[in-house]
Amino acid sequence: MKNYVVIQTADKFLSEKKYIFDFIFKENLGIEYNIELNEEKNYTLIFEDKKIIINDAFFSKFNDCDIYYQIDNIPQNICFFKYKGKKIPIIYGNDNLDFGDKEIFIGLDIISSIFFMLTRWEEFAVNKKDIHARFDENYSLSKKYEFCNIPVVDFYLDILFFYLKFPVIEKKYEKKSKLIFTHDIDYPYNTIKDIFPISSKNNRIDIIKNYIKKSYVTYEKLIKLGKKNNSNSIFFFMVNREAEFDLNNKYPKFNNKIKKYINKVLSSGHIVGLHTSYNTFLNIKKIKKEKFVLEKTIKREVLHSRQHYLRINVPFTLRMLNSAGIKYEYSMGFSKFPGFRCGTGKNFNFYDFIERKKLKIKIFPFYFMDTYLNGKLPELYDNTIKTDIIIIIHNNYNAKKEKVKLIKEVIRHFKKHKKRKLCLNF
Ligand SMILES: [Zn+2]
Repeated sequence: MKNYVVIQTADKFLSEKKYIFDFIFKENLGIEYNIELNEEKNYTLIFEDKKIIINDAFFSKFNDCDIYYQIDNIPQNICFFKYKGKKIPIIYGNDNLDFGDKEIFIGLDIISSIFFMLTRWEEFAVNKKDIHARFDENYSLSKKYEFCNIPVVDFYLDILFFYLKFPVIEKKYEKKSKLIFTHDIDYPYNTIKDIFPISSKNNRIDIIKNYIKKSYVTYEKLIKLGKKNNSNSIFFFMVNREAEFDLNNKYPKFNNKIKKYINKVLSSGHIVGLHTSYNTFLNIKKIKKEKFVLEKTIKREVLHSRQHYLRINVPFTLRMLNSAGIKYEYSMGFSKFPGFRCGTGKNFNFYDFIERKKLKIKIFPFYFMDTYLNGKLPELYDNTIKTDIIIIIHNNYNAKKEKVKLIKEVIRHFKKHKKRKLCLNF
């Protein structure tokens, strides 16, 4: 009995295919695989007495040296199929599903569809930017066809798992969904003037009461929230502010007050990460310098980072962060609405599609950010297929009362779907 999958495929785009096979089989289904090269168009998976043929609707069309990451290769029309009550997009391939005696043919090209979502080559090919030189998320396929709120990659994995089902796989695959809180410290502290301008008509006692309630110094509360969630939260601190968008007028120096908050987080057992400043996104020198400054303060290696304003230019920013020694990156999410920008909530290694290599850096995509909350709760994913959920709560989340209420609702929603006890008193 072989406890690995044999994958037969044509001898091209092997680096790209191996990246996806690693993700599917080793990292998610927990099973090894062996590649056998052949001349066939499609992928053949052989496992035990099962044979699954997956349509190769994408890589089979190109020669190995072709530049496939171009706008013309992004699908123009997307069809959907129903699975576990959700509408699942067919990014590449079709909805054929044929059952033979010991052979199943799947028309959906799971391999290149997952590749499309994880590598974000779409963002490079579309090349539409917003005012912060970030990819304009309105141009993403998932936004255009309204599947941002579905972790499509996790659904594809579930479908494949369903057809390969076997006890060895089942054990690893049925893992729990994690809920992780992360905090960007854009405004490390505040003054009474931030909350009440001089013209305020409130009396002094009200001012002080409100000041305490609305203070940005919420570290204790956020530490407590993470502790109650039984998971380490990550607090991203800025050490350099040179651009206007870094609030360089307000916090000109990385001072002792900020260092005190950093130490508070560290001694609580949570993680301190780097909130790379506005101008780092295409500047490896600046990334390295900021990483060094934070490392000197915390006296340990900095492994986690998130870009301020989520400024990521794929694949270059990630290539630079990787070279600077960042291991875990948290910027991949949408800036204006909840969703799975990479089609999954799970973490995965990034693949540099231009240099054609899998990088050490792992992407931890976030799903939700407190800034989306403007008076009402947006539609939230219900965890039909389990995936990890990373939430961003800024330390000044309490600036508006209605927002605090809504954040609690978001947390309640995900706790409910995680089937854990509710812990909301932060
Ligand atoms: Zn920020």
